[in-house]
Amino acid sequence: QATINQIAAGEVIDRPSSVVKELLENAIDAKATAITVEIKDGGISFIRITDNGCGIEKDQVRKAFLRHATSKLHTIDDLLDIGSLGFRGEALSSIAAIAQVELISKPPEAMLGISYQIEDGEEKSLTQIGAPDGTTILVRNLFYHVPARKKFLKTAATEGNYINQLMENMAMLRPDISMRFINGGQNKLYTSGNGRLKDLIYTIYGREISSNVLEINYECPLFAVTGYIGKPIISRGNRTFENYYINGRFVKSRLIAAAIEQAYKPFMMQHRYPFTVLHIKIKPELIDVNVHPAKMEVRFQQENEIYELLAGAIENTLRGKEFIPDVS
Ligand code: ADP
Ligand code: MG
Repeated sequence: QATINQIAAGEVIDRPSSVVKELLENAIDAKATAITVEIKDGGISFIRITDNGCGIEKDQVRKAFLRHATSKLHTIDDLLDIGSLGFRGEALSSIAAIAQVELISKPPEAMLGISYQIEDGEEKSLTQIGAPDGTTILVRNLFYHVPARKKFLKTAATEGNYINQLMENMAMLRPDISMRFINGGQNKLYTSGNGRLKDLIYTIYGREISSNVLEINYECPLFAVTGYIGKPIISRGNRTFENYYINGRFVKSRLIAAAIEQAYKPFMMQHRYPFTVLHIKIKPELIDVNVHPAKMEVRFQQENEIYELLAGAIENTLRGKEFIPDVS
């Protein structure tokens, strides 16, 4: 049983950044307004996430660590429609199957919090303690007894960089949540949670980029897009920064990436590359989701229309024009 759990867990959790992603999503689902992520050793030996969200009730703790006990999903197509980021109910059980996990949690209305320890999927202790409101989860020694998995990890520096990247993505997904990231005792990211996406672009990419972005705000019956795009004058060396979120999730889409690149094409001379942070809202029935636990790739119905409209909206923003689609 332990082996099966470890294999299954490896599907969801393949590296420290996937632990952080799952725990961040849980904190966001718990309506936290402030989240701190601390890692050591690239997250391999130590990951601690603290949030000020709704907490876990004493009698729900064991259930939270049971596989699929909390699955909210009926069909995969519900995915971009459900209000929470979590849907599989297997993150905590997967993490607990391959690491040493300690949870401290207290709902604001509870008198006492709980401390729970689980390791190899086996409960070590559950006690009541005084604790601040919210949840802290500590994950130690990821894959410590799954050497086959551990072998595939990169250096601590690289694993730490993946987590840094993830933190930046999550911060831009939720400008309304204050996020802090500490790597090896060093402050790497702090966001105020003031809700202003442009402030995050400043924090993450610096002054040169943030003072050279254009606001995009476009709506049509198929979708709506808001966010910021780099003025075509910005030179980004040979790096491209295409950030986009669909219905509140960080996803991958070839269509969106192609539309961004199409829109920038007229301006691509002299090493000018796209910079975007786009929040796209689209009717869930227009999206097909292909879920791999580690990433989420989406495809669209009415692909051509969406492609044309999005590329047009971005290009016209770059040109400083209002985009009026050619409806035929
Ligand atoms: P899922 O997020 O898909 O429901 P998880 O295994 O990630 O599955 O989490 C299981 C459950 O544990 C969640 O549904 C939630 O009820 C609870 N939970 C996990 N993390 C937190 C947290 N930080 N704050 C409050 N509740 C949490
Ligand atoms: Mg979850």
